[in-house]
Formats: sequence, C-alpha cells, structure tokens
Amino acid sequence: MLGLLFAPLVFLIVLALNAALPGRWVEGYVRDESTGQRLRYRLNGLRVFIVTIGLWAFACSSGLMPWDGLYLERWAMAFSACAVGLVFTLAMVLPAAPVEGHGFFRDLYLGRLTNPQWRGGRVDAKMYLYLAGATLLELNLLSFAAHHLRVQGGDPSIGVLLYVGLFTFFLVEYLFFEEVHLYTYDFVAERVGFKLGWGCLVFYPFFYGVGLWSQVEAPNPHTPPLLLTSCAVLFFSGWVMARGANLQKFTFKRDPQRSFLGLTPRTVTDGERQILVSGFWGLSRHINYLGELTMASALTLSLGAPAAWVPWLYPLYYLVLLVPRQHDDDRRCAAKYGPLWAEYVRRVPHRIIPFVY
Ligand code: NDP
Repeated sequence: MLGLLFAPLVFLIVLALNAALPGRWVEGYVRDESTGQRLRYRLNGLRVFIVTIGLWAFACSSGLMPWDGLYLERWAMAFSACAVGLVFTLAMVLPAAPVEGHGFFRDLYLGRLTNPQWRGGRVDAKMYLYLAGATLLELNLLSFAAHHLRVQGGDPSIGVLLYVGLFTFFLVEYLFFEEVHLYTYDFVAERVGFKLGWGCLVFYPFFYGVGLWSQVEAPNPHTPPLLLTSCAVLFFSGWVMARGANLQKFTFKRDPQRSFLGLTPRTVTDGERQILVSGFWGLSRHINYLGELTMASALTLSLGAPAAWVPWLYPLYYLVLLVPRQHDDDRRCAAKYGPLWAEYVRRVPHRIIPFVY
C-alpha cells in the first residue's frame, strides 16, 4: 500500500508546500500571451525540497516506514506515479483549446497551454513539475542508498555514495539557481502535456537514477580512490560548463552590458538585438549541453561498473534528448534572428563540442 500511495502523497505535499511556504517573487523571461507582460513567479523550490526530505527522514527515523522503503516499493511507486502523470496530462490538455494545425494526439503529447499558472502565479505548472520530479528523485536516491548500506553494510561501495552525493548536489544546485531555469527552452518553447507532465512526474524521478537501480545490490567494486576523485573532477568540469553557460546567458538577458566573471560581453548585433559570442557562448553554440553530458557520464562512471550497460542509459538519454534539441533550437533561433544568427553560426561554428561537433 505504501508503494501505491507514496508518490501521489509526495506530489500533493510538494504542491501544498509550494503554494504555502514563503517565496521570492521574480519576473520571468516569457510573456503572457494575452497581456504581453512578463510572467511573474514565486520561487521557493529549495525550501519545499528540504522540508519534504525532512518529513521523509522524520517518518523513517520514527519507524513509520523503513529507510529503504522506497527501494522495496519502487515498482508500485513507479506505477502510481504513471497513473498520476496520465491524469495530470489529461487534466491539463482536455479543457484547453486545441493548438491550430495540431491533431489531438500531438496536442496530448506536447500540450496546449504554454505557461499555466494558478492563484496569481503562486503556483506555476512548469516550476511545480520540475520541483515535484526533483524531490521524488532525491527521495528515491536516498532510499536506494539506504538499501545499499543495509545489504552491503559491511563493505559498502564508496562509488554508490559518491553517486548519490553528486546527484544530490545536482538537484540542490538546480533549485538554488531556480530563477535561471525561467530563461530556458522549456519555458520559452514547450507546452504542458504528456512530454513535460509525465516526463517530470515519472521519467525524471524513476529513470534518472537508473544507474543506481542497476548497481544498488551489486557488491563493492573497490574502485581506486584516484578513479573516484577523477569522476568527481569530471562531474564538476561538466557542472562549470553547464552552470557557467546558463548563468552567463541569464546575466546577459537581464542586462546586456553587465560583465560576467569580470569579462565584458562581446556580441554580434543588428542594432536592435544582440547575441553573445564571448565566454561560454563563444566556445560552442550549446556548451551547456556538453556540460550536461559530461556530468551524466561522470555519474555513471562513479558507480565503478563501466562494463554494465544499464547505467549508460542515463548519458545516452541526454544524447538522444539534447542533439535533436540543439537542432530545433538552432532552427528556432535562425527563424527568430535571421542574418544575425547566420553571423553567430559563422563566428561560432560548432554546435556542442568545441572544434569537434
Ligand atoms: P539554452 O539555455 O541554451 O537556451 C537556448 C536559448 O538561448 C535560445 O533559444 C536563445 O533564446 C538563447 N540563446 C542561444 N544562444 C545564445 C547566445 N549566443 N546569446 C544569447 N542568447 C542565446 O537551452 P535549454 O533551455 O535547452 O537548456 C538550458 C539548460 O538546461 C542547459 O544547461 C541544459 O543542458 C539543461 N537541461 C537539463 C535537462 C535535465 O534533464 N537535466 C534537460 C534539458 C536541458 P532567445 O530567444 O532568448 O534568444
């Protein structure tokens, strides 16, 4: 029963905390289609995340559920999250007006509404989805690690603990920089349908930790400390690329004159609009995607089982997601910026990997 109820309960707790806990009001990047005004958001993701994890830790320490309960009930949890993801998709898509030129199934998959918000922006559908997914993923990671410690108690894998530590950093820092996310493709170009709804409520919390699903019961591979340190270094190099690029763009979009890390931005311009060609955005047109791929590979390697294929599904997923996304984004930007984008492509010819691709 715990397995079937837990995921919906977490989604409800996150929703209630998201609406109730104090938050910081900010102006976003996308505009309300009817008024032309920038949408406003109330951000409190990190607080919601910490309180929810605290509630889980309290429930485990007071004996209400075992620390590895979510591992033991993982399939039932994934099943009920699936059901919530489907109901959420239908509830978002069916009452909204169809998108012109899209059929019903395309609408169902991609969604109809661009940026639904409730209670005057107190709850935003996209911010909620990412927060609910991140919180349930963290709970899964912690509970899986607890299971590993229980079954391999005498000789736990430091790699598994490193994996959970790095993943926790990944989620916490994402929520710490929550505002930056408002300037990304998801907010600019995506609608809320199955892809985003089911993706955040099911795929994100249950697939992202696929490496741990595969290795949690495996014996300690005794990865040498130097290799584990190299994995951590690789992970943080990826983080610098992804976070650096995203922060540089965020700074630039808010104030195109403002320097970033002490460097004045260099741009190409048509007199009206500007595109960054310096710093991270001068290395390749999506160095942030390379950062994301690097972090995913480092996480996989940290488990100390490079010959096992299941943990590689995680970096492979990023490859399959981000390569077509880069092409889509290029097309969108070429249409939006015209010759200015062509000039950027001439100045920064590589799509993702500098000097290679
Ligand atoms: P970007 O943050 O790269 O955003 C692309 C947009 O930025 C473009 O559409 C354009 O929008 C603007 N832009 C592009 N080049 C420039 C430039 N040189 N100067 C100024 N503006 C520019 O892409 P995403 O939104 O896809 O990704 C955001 C982050 O989220 C990345 O780090 C990505 O890896 C990460 N991500 C993480 C996922 C995960 O599951 N962990 C999944 C997907 C993405 P405009 O119209 O505003 O000019």
